[in-house]
Amino acid sequence: MTFAKSIVADAIHACKAPCITCSFQAEDVVVLHMLREIHADIPVLFLDTVHHFAETYVYRDELTRRWGLRLVNLRAEEPSPGLWHTSTDDCCARHKVGPIFAALAEYDTWFTGLRREQSPSRASLEEVEPFTLPGGNTIRKVSPLARWSTQEVWHYAKARGIPMLPLYDRGYTSIGCEPCTSLPLDPSNPRSGRWGGQKLECGIHIQESSVTTQNLKVFGNDL
Ligand code: SF4
Repeated sequence: MTFAKSIVADAIHACKAPCITCSFQAEDVVVLHMLREIHADIPVLFLDTVHHFAETYVYRDELTRRWGLRLVNLRAEEPSPGLWHTSTDDCCARHKVGPIFAALAEYDTWFTGLRREQSPSRASLEEVEPFTLPGGNTIRKVSPLARWSTQEVWHYAKARGIPMLPLYDRGYTSIGCEPCTSLPLDPSNPRSGRWGGQKLECGIHIQESSVTTQNLKVFGNDL
C-alpha cells in the first residue's frame, strides 16, 4: 500500500500534466483517492460511451459532487448508440479508443487502476510504463495497483469508508458498458462477464503497434 502511494507521489512530482482515466470501478476510485491527497484538482477522464449503466452515471455524479472532482466527460464526436449490435470492435473504437487517445494528447502522465490479476493481457503490467499514442507522442502510464489483489483493493476502500459503485452489491465483479457486461460467467475470473467472455480488451490499453487479434479476443478457455 505504501509502495503504491509512493508511486503516485513520485509520478505526480515528476510530471507537468497528469490525468487519470476513471470508469468509476473500484480500482480507479482507489487510485483517485490516493491522488486527491496530493493533487486534488487532477483531471478525471470519464469515457462516456453512452452505453453505461444508469447506476454508473448516478455514482459518477455523486462522487464528483462529494469529492469535488474535476470531471472531464469524453464522448465520441458522433456517438452511435447500439453500434455494439453489429460490431463490438467498431463500437469500442468509436466510443472509447478514439476519444481517449485524442484526450490523452494533452497530458504527459496517465494514471490508471489497472492490475495484473485482472486479465492475461495485463499479466506483465508494470507500475510505470511508456505509452505511445497514435500521434507518436509518448507519455507515462502509471498503474500504482499493478501488483495488488482484489482483496487489497477492497480492504483499502473499506478502511477509508469509500463508497463503491452499487452494482458490485448485485454480483458484478467488473463493470463496463451495460450491453457488454454481465455477472461473471466464471466465478474465478472477475472479467469473465465482459463481452460475454469473448474479448479481453476494448483497445485503450493496447499499444497501437501491438494490436493483434490475439490480445483483443479470447479463444477457447484462455480466460
Ligand atoms: S463496451 Fe460495448 S457498448 Fe461499450 S463501447 Fe465497447 S462495444 Fe460499445
